[in-house]
Amino acid sequence: MKMLSLLFPLLAIALTEASQTPLNVPTVPNDSVQLCCTALSEALPSLVHLPGSAEYEHQQHTYFILQHTDIQPSCRVSPATTSDVSFIMTTLTKHSCPFAVRSGGHMTWAGSNVVGGVTLDLGRLNEITVEEEKGLVKLGPGNKWSSVYAAMEPYNLTTVGGRMPEVGVGGFFLGGGISLLSFQHGFGSDNILNYELVLSNGTILNANASSHPDLFWALKLGSSNFGIVTRFDVRAYLLKPNVWGGIRAYPITPSDTPTLISNWVSFAQSAAAKREELQALILGRWRKGAVEEVATIWHASLDDVPSSPLSTAPPLVDSTRKTTLLDLVDDLQSSDFADKKRNRWFTLTVKLDAPFIWDVFEHAKEIFDELELEVDGMHWDLAFQPVTEGFVTASEGTGGNPFRKVLMESEDDLAIACFLFSWTDPNHDSAMNHASRTLGAWSESLARQRGIFNDFVYLNYANDEQDVYGRSVSKGDLERMKEVKGIYDKEGALGRLWRGGFKIPGNDGESIKGEGESKVHYESAPRSEL
Ligand SMILES: Cc1cc2nc3c(=O)[nH]c(=O)nc-3n(C[C@H](O)[C@H](O)[C@H](O)COP(=O)(O)OP(=O)(O)OC[C@H]3O[C@@H](n4cnc5c(N)ncnc54)[C@H](O)[C@@H]3O)c2cc1C
Repeated sequence: MKMLSLLFPLLAIALTEASQTPLNVPTVPNDSVQLCCTALSEALPSLVHLPGSAEYEHQQHTYFILQHTDIQPSCRVSPATTSDVSFIMTTLTKHSCPFAVRSGGHMTWAGSNVVGGVTLDLGRLNEITVEEEKGLVKLGPGNKWSSVYAAMEPYNLTTVGGRMPEVGVGGFFLGGGISLLSFQHGFGSDNILNYELVLSNGTILNANASSHPDLFWALKLGSSNFGIVTRFDVRAYLLKPNVWGGIRAYPITPSDTPTLISNWVSFAQSAAAKREELQALILGRWRKGAVEEVATIWHASLDDVPSSPLSTAPPLVDSTRKTTLLDLVDDLQSSDFADKKRNRWFTLTVKLDAPFIWDVFEHAKEIFDELELEVDGMHWDLAFQPVTEGFVTASEGTGGNPFRKVLMESEDDLAIACFLFSWTDPNHDSAMNHASRTLGAWSESLARQRGIFNDFVYLNYANDEQDVYGRSVSKGDLERMKEVKGIYDKEGALGRLWRGGFKIPGNDGESIKGEGESKVHYESAPRSEL
């Protein structure tokens, strides 16, 4: 360890931290959970799965991040109807059983599984009903975006959904949702017309603009605060038969890449919305034998007209083409990005600014250089997603959402940054978490110094340490959300029992999640390094 700490100080500190706290040890007596699993098995025998059963193991192995698979609930339950969800919720609250809820299982920290508790897997709630004449699609939360697009394509319709086929409808909408249609129609949740949900007392209700309108508004950034959504009714939009897109990837060089980034910023500011093209910029580095550094522009245009390359350098890869939306989205599944690994993400929002992006990349190299040789399968990406004015104002006509005001505080066009870190060996968790925290804090501080910082923390990209509600929702709107929560979860059962997701802070300013998770180490996410 002495030699190692001289060569790789960051890794050495982190490995020491990791050895202090064993991961994934339930520390609460689980009598109540046994009671819940037994009561649920008796009432819904075919829907409850115990450790060792084929279905339990299958569900455990279909999460996106490996940290989720490490977590072993006492039983998993697969409701097939809304009434099942209501019965399950009543049972869980009656016996005070900690639980988690999973839709597509793509949350990037372990927020949809629970050590020693009960995990509801919503995969069987996978209804898709296209109501063409009403311009509407009704989606069960068990769907993934590939099935939604496949079901809508025959009607030449689509919706404001995710860009990766395996991401779940549930988590995507409850955190906002950035889509290829966002330049015209805002966030995914701006397009929801009705939520059917089950409250903590088992009541089933519909929230929309005329029935429970405050709850309807709050659910647009609802996460795990208000109830389990059993159906999302969402606006459908006409889809042209062909779209255009794919990736253009270039080697990263100090002579070419800063120009590429500037061109990307200019395109986002002036042309993106007009062309209905969402371009994401990803600067990535990984080691497969040699170190590879690649700048990728992910082009996705709902027009089938190609846009020009943003670099004059010869691309390493150019997969841009005229194709279908489903094909374009499916393509991403086969990319490196979709590999199952251990993950940690970090997000921040800044004014669109090319020098900042390049400086963060250079600093990331310094931080990760010393880890790269030691951490198995390490790969990191810095992804930037433009959020220009049209994108934000698109939510105006739909009743608004709780996070618009904070985004609107900046007069400039913004970028939501998402830093993605992945690796394979659990022994490197602490080193990677530590390094990603260091880069995140450094980047935020640089953005503040340069006057380009925006408070918004995008829920769907945030990690469990990021203060999503405290920063992304204005003070007044946060008070309104707390009031809504008080009305629909009177006893605070969801704050106490539902593990994972982001929690609206309690009225005393304390995060309900912090309270539940730190006092009782019964949590969804291993927090050994905290
Ligand atoms: C590869 C990849 C690509 C991504 N692409 C995009 C993208 O294009 N745009 C974007 O905005 N985000 C994207 N994300 C982020 C993604 O939207 C979030 O990770 C989201 O939480 C995933 O939803 P899920 O249902 O798959 O996850 P899950 O892990 O199943 O759930 C996430 C959270 O939502 C809660 N939840 C799920 N369903 C319900 C429900 N019905 N009722 C109440 N609570 C529920 C869970 O309890 C959990 O807290 C991507 C993530 C990954 C890993």
